Amino acid sequence: MTKYDSSTALLVVDVQNDFADPAGSLYVAGGEEVIASINEEIARASESGATVIYSQDWHPASTPHFQKDGGVWPAHCVMNTWGSEFHTSLRVVEGAPTIRKGSGGEDGYSVFSVRDPRSGASFATELEGLLRERAIARVVLAGLATDYCVKETALDALRLEFEVEVLRRGVRAVNLQPGDGDRALEAIAAAGGRLE
Ligand SMILES: [Zn+2]
Repeated sequence: MTKYDSSTALLVVDVQNDFADPAGSLYVAGGEEVIASINEEIARASESGATVIYSQDWHPASTPHFQKDGGVWPAHCVMNTWGSEFHTSLRVVEGAPTIRKGSGGEDGYSVFSVRDPRSGASFATELEGLLRERAIARVVLAGLATDYCVKETALDALRLEFEVEVLRRGVRAVNLQPGDGDRALEAIAAAGGRLE
């Protein structure tokens, strides 16, 4: 069982309707099944003095991240719509920081950075600063989806020299290609992350 303390952050990645609800526009199969175990982790993390941080994919109605505007994904998580809201079953800790990514039309998957799709330039989000400020050394990850946002966030965290742990029962994969989710977990483990 994962241990939590004040030097640990539990990062709950993109548990939003468009990914986690079967009616969502980019539904990740089984997405709603991870919520119960994520809620338990959130409770344990909060009780142990760990920081709980949420992320949300947060797009404008038109962005080169979407198929209809020249990108690869169906429109999803358009800011301030049902699809971008946290799934109603998700426990949201009052006052916990939420990192919203993509609001300026950027894409990219890591919660640590966004990417300007026109220039390719990357920009840091507030996540790393938030972790350093709170003297956090270890990041525990759960959420959606294993093969995109969870994977890229975990790999960035390892590059930034945080300890990383991924909760297997708290993640689900898109699996555009069969096995993408498993390969993502292998890549995280190969880079030094722990799978719990
Ligand atoms: Zn997106």
